[in-house]
Amino acid sequence: MSKKLIKKFSKNYILKYLPQMNLRRISTEGQKKISAAKIIVIGLGGIGTPFLTYICRSGISTIGIVDYDKVSISNLHRQIFFNIQDINKLKTKVIEKKLKLYDKNMKINSINKKINKKNIKSIIRNYDYVIDGTDNFETKLLINDECKKQKKNLFIGAVSQLEGHIFHFNFKNNGPCLRCFMPEAPNINARCQDEGILGTVTGVVGTLIANEIIKVITNIESTLLDHILIINFESLSFRKAKIIKMSKCRNND
Ligand SMILES: [Zn+2]
Repeated sequence: MSKKLIKKFSKNYILKYLPQMNLRRISTEGQKKISAAKIIVIGLGGIGTPFLTYICRSGISTIGIVDYDKVSISNLHRQIFFNIQDINKLKTKVIEKKLKLYDKNMKINSINKKINKKNIKSIIRNYDYVIDGTDNFETKLLINDECKKQKKNLFIGAVSQLEGHIFHFNFKNNGPCLRCFMPEAPNINARCQDEGILGTVTGVVGTLIANEIIKVITNIESTLLDHILIINFESLSFRKAKIIKMSKCRNND
């Protein structure tokens, strides 16, 4: 470990994250990057809550959390931050309280708002990494479009019955975006819980996004960039497909 970094991290911080820092690919340099990463999660549901669990336990010091909803009883089987006593409470407030039990010094920016065209610009402005854990196509496209404008790193998670999808785009590169794959929102309004969902499916998707983002932050190559990962939980197959930049995409400059 470099002496300079040992001075920066408290003794407790080092003890807490030593198992992770012992990974040669992470080390103290990577841990410094994790600690400094600015991440915002939009949608605190089946994907957002396992994502938060692992990303916050990796040693980040700042997190933005966005959701306008309250906890309901049908959330509990997959949204792993919540318990019976949290029903009818704002998701952001419950999560904020529980994250503080893990790390009281973590800076948590709770935003109890429904994302829209007007507010998204300022909501994501101060973050480098945006996680889309929302459950509808319109919001996914809205997040995609603004991340492209502000050149953010975007991870998108989606589930449908026994299938999970993860996308990663880095808009600092002039690559593809979600609209290159899905130009407009399809005319489907089914929420994941109405078509049926297993907690394990959303859990794996959220956890994999946390794993990928840690790699990107610490400069470990992510082969997910500009790809969609399709996980079929019935056949237990993982398939990656490259998203091709469409010349007619409306997000092109
Ligand atoms: Zn595009």
